[in-house]
Amino acid sequence: MWTCVNCGLDIMFQAVEVEINRDGCFFICSGCQERNKLINVAQHGDEAICLAQPSGPS
Ligand SMILES: [Zn+2]
Repeated sequence: MWTCVNCGLDIMFQAVEVEINRDGCFFICSGCQERNKLINVAQHGDEAICLAQPSGPS
């Protein structure tokens, strides 16, 4: 579950489509349309990327 940094809405991983551009990964909140940044936390050697929300205020 992700939480929108703007409105606090809890969003299931499968409920949104993760988008990737040159600034990085993000998803759009379905409640307020805020762009929520995601970071790749995959360990070195992992085949797939692993996305998570940055912890704490950025
Ligand atoms: Zn929101």
